[in-house]
Amino acid sequence: MSCFWNNRLKNLSPYIPGEQTKDRQFIKLNTNENPYPPSPLVYEAIKKSVNEELRLYPDPECTEFRQAVAGRFGVEPRQVFAGNGSDEILGFAFGAFFESERESPEVLFPDITYSFYPVYAGLWNIPVRKIPLCDDFCININDYMIPSGGVILPNPNAPTGIALPLDDIFSLAEYLKKQNKVLIIDEAYIAFGASASVQTAIPHINKYPNLLVVHTLSKSASLAGLRTGFAVGSIELIEGLRRIRDSFNSYTLDRLALAGASAAVSDIAYYDEVNRRVIATRERVSITLKSFGFYVLPSSANFVFIKPPNIGGASGASGASGAAFAAALRDRGILVRHFNKERISDFLRVSIGTDQEMDCFLDVCKEIII
Ligand code: PMP
Repeated sequence: MSCFWNNRLKNLSPYIPGEQTKDRQFIKLNTNENPYPPSPLVYEAIKKSVNEELRLYPDPECTEFRQAVAGRFGVEPRQVFAGNGSDEILGFAFGAFFESERESPEVLFPDITYSFYPVYAGLWNIPVRKIPLCDDFCININDYMIPSGGVILPNPNAPTGIALPLDDIFSLAEYLKKQNKVLIIDEAYIAFGASASVQTAIPHINKYPNLLVVHTLSKSASLAGLRTGFAVGSIELIEGLRRIRDSFNSYTLDRLALAGASAAVSDIAYYDEVNRRVIATRERVSITLKSFGFYVLPSSANFVFIKPPNIGGASGASGASGAAFAAALRDRGILVRHFNKERISDFLRVSIGTDQEMDCFLDVCKEIII
């Protein structure tokens, strides 16, 4: 606390990002980065952009990138908003679409979900209500069909990895549309869903003017370091995001990021292959962990949410087991994410690495539980 801080600042509870180690020895399975490199086209595009034009501001409209996204998903460029990571877009969206008066209806999201949502709500002073996930950690969409100030859901959810079928999203979007409320679907991990029912809602935005779908290039395009994301929705929602952005910082994406991101969204074949490998590894790792006695939630993402078997001495009482297991992994050179939160403190979120990294992870798990 500082006497120079205003009251808003004093009352914030900022997000705590996963550890980024400088020490290269760790196998890093803690921040859901893609273990495979970006498309070679991304390097080429960025290299080409390293020229004297860097003295000029970038295109504030992110035209080329938005066109690439629009072409890829069959929407119009004016239905696309670009941001410096999807976190920025989510932050803008809270400011644009949710009310902040004390007596305004609460915005709904799950009790176990992406921990940045309550932080944005805190920043903008938005009243929220956390809707408990079911006992099996699934979302019951009917729980959200109540009067509210709007809803935000990740699909698949994080950190559980469990996905909702599109029909559930449509029912909720329809319900909220009648109330003139916005539904934000955060599809950070949708590319790892790959099934008939787990699909992006983007092709359906024309039916729901209140539906904003947010994507990131951090996970499925191996570009966490480039900080790019985009949102797709009706022209009025996109205009709303721009009004917030242009009241804050009009040039959110730099020239190199714009070049690299445009190249990435165009190289569908490369990323389909990369993400297919991540999915195959996830399935293999899930089966093996279950055979070791882990409880493994069914994941449609590039991570698994797991509960180690009860290993007595090493794990201690319930609640300590997740932290103790994460510490044991860390001692052996593997970083995973543990959330010290009610209902999930026994669990670990493990990002899917390369096959070699995951084999090492599995060997170490075996060693710890024996
Ligand atoms: N949404 C979810 C559910 C996430 O897990 C993350 C990654 N922490 C993000 C959004 C943000 O991704 P980025 O800002 O890297 O685009």
